[in-house]
Order: sequence, then structure tokens, then C-alpha cells
Amino acid sequence: MHFTRLRLSGFKTFVDQTDAPIEPGLTGIVGPNGCGKSNLVEAMRWVMGESSFKSLRASGMEDVIFAGSGGRPSRNHAEVSLTLDNSARTAPEPFNQSAEIEVSRKISRGLGSLYRINGREVRARDVQLLFADASSGARSPALVGQGRVGEIINARPDRRRRILEEAAGVAGLHARRREAESRLTAAEQNLTRVEDLVGQLG
Ligand code: ATP
Repeated sequence: MHFTRLRLSGFKTFVDQTDAPIEPGLTGIVGPNGCGKSNLVEAMRWVMGESSFKSLRASGMEDVIFAGSGGRPSRNHAEVSLTLDNSARTAPEPFNQSAEIEVSRKISRGLGSLYRINGREVRARDVQLLFADASSGARSPALVGQGRVGEIINARPDRRRRILEEAAGVAGLHARRREAESRLTAAEQNLTRVEDLVGQLG
């Protein structure tokens, strides 16, 4: 499974719809200072479910929407979609049936973010888990930002273990385990209440 295209519209400097093909091999982004090279990488992290606006150099999530410049008015929406080639069918369930997977995130002023996978509305969690299972994602070691190498070298053993788990694609299992445990607790509480009621009836 690999990325094949990044499409942006209204995201930071990318006011018009922009398609960035991602060919096999090495892709480089070149351009003058301030043209939006980092914004492109941030768009990739954003669509993969980044929830911290600070790590996108913004003071609120709506700051990723084009704010207006050069006589062009601001926008009310920003949308980014990332296309993945899944012809080898290595995507995790339930997405491994399609040869191509399109993940998109749209933010509208006052309405927050809406995520879709292949056109179907999903939760942020579903998108984050899809990428975590594929050893990728907004915070994964697959994206090495400035200062990250030093951070990994100096990290404490438990933090380093988490980095290795993310790289191995098992980080999503922890989130699923937590969800399953809270469902189990709720089921146990229901069972206790049922037993109490049965006791009262008997
Ligand atoms: P450098 O080579 O200096 O690192 P860069 O090519 O990586 O630069 P970015 O940091 O991606 O450039 O882009 C910075 C530009 O994005 C700034 O000019 C900033 O004003 C602009 N920008 C950021 N957010 C928005 C927004 N919401 N609307 C419009 N422009 C924005």
C-alpha cells in the first residue's frame, strides 16, 4: 500500500484545487521560501487525522483554511484527500477489497472536520487506525520531522518502545484493546444490574 496522490483545496496556501502526484521512488518538493512546501507535508499529516493544531503551526484548527492573501478572499472550507494504491490488497479490514483507497478530510468554519474513506463518512478514529495498521499516520515514525532523529535517540525506553510499536504497525491494537475493555466493563455492569433485578424478582 503506498500513497499515489495528494489533492488539496483551500488548505493554507493551496487556495485552488491542487493535485500532487506521488510517483514510485523518491519525490522532492522544491520552491522558494514560504511557497508552501511544509504546508504540503502538513496537509498529509492533517488528512491522516492530526488532532493537534499546534503541530500544524496554527492557533486553532480552522487556521488551516485559506485565510486570504494577494487580493483573494478567505475560504470557508479546506479539503485534503490522499489516495492509496491497494492493488496488493494489503490494507487492513474492512478496506482491503478496493484496489484504491481515498481518504479525505474536510473542515468547514464553525462545523469542524468530516472524514471519509472511499466516500463513506467515518470517524477520525477509523482514519487514524487505518494508517496505524499500515505503520503510518500523522505522528508515526514514517514521517521524520525536523529534530525528530535527536528526539528518538534521547527518548526514554518506554517512549522508544512506543515508536517501535508504531513502526511495527501494532500501535492500533492498543487503542482497540482500550475500546474493548471499556465495552467489557459496561457489559459487566449491565450483567450485575440484571442479576440484581433477577434476585429481586425471585
Ligand atoms: P521555507 O522554505 O521557508 O521553509 P515553505 O515553502 O516550507 O517555506 P510554508 O512554511 O509551507 O513554506 O508556508 C508558509 C506560508 O504559508 C506563509 O507565507 C504563510 O503566510 C502561509 N499560510 C499559512 N497558513 C495560511 C492560511 N491559512 N492561509 C493562507 N496562507 C497561509
